Amino acid sequence: MSNIIEKDIVVIGAGLTGLTTSFYLQKNNADFLTLEKSDKVGGVIQTENENGYIFETGPNTGVVGQYEVVELFENLGSLCEIETPGKLVSKRYILKSGKWEAMPMGLGSAISTPLFTFADKLRVLGEPFRSAGKNPDEDLASMVKRRLGKSFLDYAIDPFIAGVYSGDPAVLITRYALPKLYRLEQDYGSFIGGSIKKSFKKKTPEEMKVTRKVFSVKGGLSKLSNAIYKSVGADKFILGAQNIKSEYVNGKFEINFTNSNNENITIKANKLVTTSGAFSLDSILSFVDNDSIAKITKLKYANVVEVILGFKNWNGMKPDGFGGLVPSIEKRDLLGVLFMSSLFANRTPENGTLFTIFLGGMRKPEMYNKSENEIKAIVEKEFMSLMKPSEFNPELFKINYHKNAIPQYGIDSGERFDMVDKLENKYKGLIIGGNLKGGIGMADRIKQGKELAERVCGF
Ligand SMILES: Cc1cc2nc3c(=O)[nH]c(=O)nc-3n(C[C@H](O)[C@H](O)[C@H](O)COP(=O)(O)OP(=O)(O)OC[C@H]3O[C@@H](n4cnc5c(N)ncnc54)[C@H](O)[C@@H]3O)c2cc1C
Repeated sequence: MSNIIEKDIVVIGAGLTGLTTSFYLQKNNADFLTLEKSDKVGGVIQTENENGYIFETGPNTGVVGQYEVVELFENLGSLCEIETPGKLVSKRYILKSGKWEAMPMGLGSAISTPLFTFADKLRVLGEPFRSAGKNPDEDLASMVKRRLGKSFLDYAIDPFIAGVYSGDPAVLITRYALPKLYRLEQDYGSFIGGSIKKSFKKKTPEEMKVTRKVFSVKGGLSKLSNAIYKSVGADKFILGAQNIKSEYVNGKFEINFTNSNNENITIKANKLVTTSGAFSLDSILSFVDNDSIAKITKLKYANVVEVILGFKNWNGMKPDGFGGLVPSIEKRDLLGVLFMSSLFANRTPENGTLFTIFLGGMRKPEMYNKSENEIKAIVEKEFMSLMKPSEFNPELFKINYHKNAIPQYGIDSGERFDMVDKLENKYKGLIIGGNLKGGIGMADRIKQGKELAERVCGF
């Protein structure tokens, strides 16, 4: 390989965002290269296969919450197959007073559920008539308390936010973290009224395909990243690209890095698209001054510990649903449990049962610093008490520590977005993507990945 390469576009990062960007760049016959520091693609999406168990070490499921998800799978055709769980597993549990309670799915169960107080159930009837909030920077906890009441915050939103953001609703700002919820209040004056009105709106054919169903991929999520990689072509990627730094010279980017053979490479490019996390940008965008880049890199990420348990003969609580979430008010060590073998078939040896557990997050950051033995002891204690097997004898026990796992869209988000705009205007051809904006879920990442490709190609 020559040590100086000329390209129109360089993309940094081959997680789901960078892969999707690469996919649409390739579809548009763009002249590009994607640089990835790891020796494999997929970023946090990594599926493993051990002794008949197929398990995720990062995200486990996505939601078909954006049309771009459907479109991507359609484009990939037979290269990978989307998998959605059956209706039977739509049940979700919330822990209350140490006992799993099913989240209400209809009016009857909403009235009878012990999760919410009687006063708050009555209060919900008044929600459509409550006036909209005036503070655009209101945090999620205040907004939910104001509109629905404290028990809805404690036993619905708080565990939901633990499941999605590993975050704290008192820190997340609604308009950044849950923009659709924010818009319901602002546009319709009510969550309930707005949802009803929106459901009567005529949908475009694309919107009809946004089912909001949970999805994975047959054989695990890595099949999706590998399908994109295969479709784009390995020659469009440089894996194992270390110490990426860039300069902005006469309106062009010079991207320098060391390849897996320890050679120093320079790529001269007209456009540079970043899709790696905020924390990586001070070294990658080395031409940007410290004060400016700090407005982006100070974004807080939750560290998460993910534990995978596989049982040969499970005799505890029947995992008849999606999983269970633990509200912070319950003061437990787990954030939640996913019933993976109930969600998707063929992920275990015959009669096996597979669980994924999350610990840490913003709620218990100290978990990230615990040793494997300490995590094992915590998981065993919590699992015996919450899932009630007669003994704790998993044949699969995996622990994954995720540093900088989930970005927390807090009060500093506006300043961060302004700085992204400012830098993109100042350095023509620079596009800063990744999960520092545009949503954290896989569907948001796919949507943004496509948008980045469209922007950099100018269409
Ligand atoms: C533990 C965990 C559980 C999750 N669970 C879910 C879930 O259930 N559902 C859901 O929808 N979402 C979930 N998410 C979120 C979702 O997985 C992510 O938002 C999404 O996969 C991120 O994709 P990305 O490409 O933006 O980032 P990443 O996957 O982080 O990819 C960024 C890539 O950039 C590379 N990179 C970083 N720095 C550099 C550098 N200096 N030079 C070159 N390359 C670099 C990295 O190696 C990586 O490959 C979860 C995330 C985590 C961490």
